Amino acid sequence: MGRKEFDIGIALAEKRAREILDDFGLTTVAEVDLRDLAFDRGLIVEAREIRGAEGRLIRRGDRAIAVVDAAITQRGKRRFVAAHELGHYELHADEPVFVCDQAAFLDWHRRRPAETEANRFAAELLMPRSGFLADGRATPTSFDAVGDLAEAYRVSLTAAAFRYVHLDVAPSALVFSRRGRIEWSVESASLPLQYIGPRRPVHRDSGAGEYFQSGRTSLEPEWTPVEAWFLDDSLVRGERYLEQCRPMPSYEACLSLIWQG
Ligand SMILES: [Zn+2]
Repeated sequence: MGRKEFDIGIALAEKRAREILDDFGLTTVAEVDLRDLAFDRGLIVEAREIRGAEGRLIRRGDRAIAVVDAAITQRGKRRFVAAHELGHYELHADEPVFVCDQAAFLDWHRRRPAETEANRFAAELLMPRSGFLADGRATPTSFDAVGDLAEAYRVSLTAAAFRYVHLDVAPSALVFSRRGRIEWSVESASLPLQYIGPRRPVHRDSGAGEYFQSGRTSLEPEWTPVEAWFLDDSLVRGERYLEQCRPMPSYEACLSLIWQG
């Protein structure tokens, strides 16, 4: 699929989410049970255990059923999976079945365009751009501020942090590292340094590096040398950005929010 066609897919995904909000006269779905909203659109959403996937959509004729893995205990994550399956239902009428694994929910970069479109639909439905930007910009950057947004929009901390950086609420980056290695990152368009790069060891001088070495790290914003995270040719050694960590021990992982202080 060409780049241009793909961008149209994303634009349509976000537009559909906004149309649904408009239909219901909502500016946020934070107080809405997504099962009710989906049911009104013709989709039944159930919680059931699924092996090897977090969400699934099966469509047959006019009827469709979505399953959210009952093993997901976190409310924000469950809501994101339900919204993602509603996205497939709304956007991808030609496909009878979607089985969405963990990788699908991390696919923001068009590896599988339908998954990226469902994620962008879900993000727009759960965290509508204009309200999220306004709320995010009302407070200085920190993981505490992102945590407040996650609470207000009833999404996971990871989803709120990703949205925060992706929408460029402030010049910032987000890195998810696991077992001492960077798994993925996102950089906002206005951050001067842009290149973190996946699948390499976490630098020992970063907050996440400290966590993987000692099992502990500061939960407060700490100054971190830019070369501990970025690979850009243009970086100035010794320059520092703020990094704030949120360890996720059950995943052996750490989220780092990085921004210009
Ligand atoms: Zn999917």
